[in-house]
Amino acid sequence: MISKNLREEVHNCIKCGICLTPCPVYKQRLVEATSPRGKVQLIRNVMEGNLELSENFTRILFTCLLCETCTVNCPSGLQVDQLMKAMRVEVIEKFGLPGKKKFLFELLTGKRLLPFYLFWGRVLRNNLLPLLPVKGKVGTIPLKKFPRLSRQPLLKKIPEVISVPEPKGRVLYFTGCATNYLDGEIGRATIEILVRLGVEVVVPKDQMCCGLPIFLAGAPQMALPNILKNVALGNRQDVDAVVVECATCGAALKKEYPHILREMGQNAEKAEALSRKVLDISQYLMKFDLGKMLRPLKGKVTYHDPCHLLRSQGVKDEPRALLRQIPELDFVEMGGADVCCGGGGTFQWEHPEISENITAQKIGNIEETGANYVATGCPGCRLQIFGNLRKDGVEVVHPVQLISRSLGSPISRA
Ligand code: SF4
Ligand code: SF4
Repeated sequence: MISKNLREEVHNCIKCGICLTPCPVYKQRLVEATSPRGKVQLIRNVMEGNLELSENFTRILFTCLLCETCTVNCPSGLQVDQLMKAMRVEVIEKFGLPGKKKFLFELLTGKRLLPFYLFWGRVLRNNLLPLLPVKGKVGTIPLKKFPRLSRQPLLKKIPEVISVPEPKGRVLYFTGCATNYLDGEIGRATIEILVRLGVEVVVPKDQMCCGLPIFLAGAPQMALPNILKNVALGNRQDVDAVVVECATCGAALKKEYPHILREMGQNAEKAEALSRKVLDISQYLMKFDLGKMLRPLKGKVTYHDPCHLLRSQGVKDEPRALLRQIPELDFVEMGGADVCCGGGGTFQWEHPEISENITAQKIGNIEETGANYVATGCPGCRLQIFGNLRKDGVEVVHPVQLISRSLGSPISRA
């Protein structure tokens, strides 16, 4: 059910077309139906009963990265992404989720035995990978470049409370699935930096997948138990902030939870209270004078803006400022740093022919800088960039990894 506000908003589109050229998908396709304006007009016609919810309409609606570039560029203030997300819900209610997505989301919501599948996924992935064809790909990413599942989830390896003497702060750390299951080093780097700053860290063991991929696929009902659980966890009174290092989880907790709950007719007060407490790790770290603690780290770094951090949360300067503080690390801005990497969650699997050109542009911009590090705070962007790098010698990292190295923190690998 599309809310009354969004239904009314659709009439504010003045068809100016300002949203067309910044849209990465339109730039590749040059077809009106793939543009934000084209989608808005199709949605309007569906809402007015002039068009049916068809499979063709569904295909067009999902030919979108949900990068929010159209929303931030629209002079009429249309929330184009929210309109498209709401229409996705209608479409999925009619046609249902595709089988692969349904299976994945059942894992993420705990409807299936995630530890069982993780164990066998890890065994099979790690043992069968060397036997797979070298050129095998999922979307644009070679199979060999997919990350290995950690031997044990991070949440099982760390205590629930990491105490410090005379704490200067106390935060709840929401790790997200990627850090928990795939890249524990990022989680440990985050905790080590916070502890070095004298901040006590609470890492609830029962935090759940943020649910954003499920919601964005058009299945908010399926994501609801995860959302309610995380909202309850994040509202505890004994922490000053809820810090998140995953751009997508941050977008969920900061921006989408209140919106989703309102759209579903649920009380969103607690989600709004949580939203006010959520900070990206870069925002939280900027409250401290980290610079004087950092040691030289030779090299050149460039930074890619994740859509879920830049446009969903408005975080642009803080990650750059943190990286610039590292002595002897040369920060160089890439061209088009704010343009989507082309990943878009499952988009790159479903539309590799569109994704590969968008990503090739990003890779070209990275290579032009001559950087040996590309830093970004989104696991999806890191996978998309790493998976498509043409040359060796560029390491794709989260900014906290470089800060932690500059602090000389003793991180052991997952
Ligand atoms: S920029 Fe906004 S008003 Fe202009 S065509 Fe796009 S959606 Fe419509
Ligand atoms: S969200 Fe991004 S990809 Fe989708 S229509 Fe808007 S600008 Fe284009």
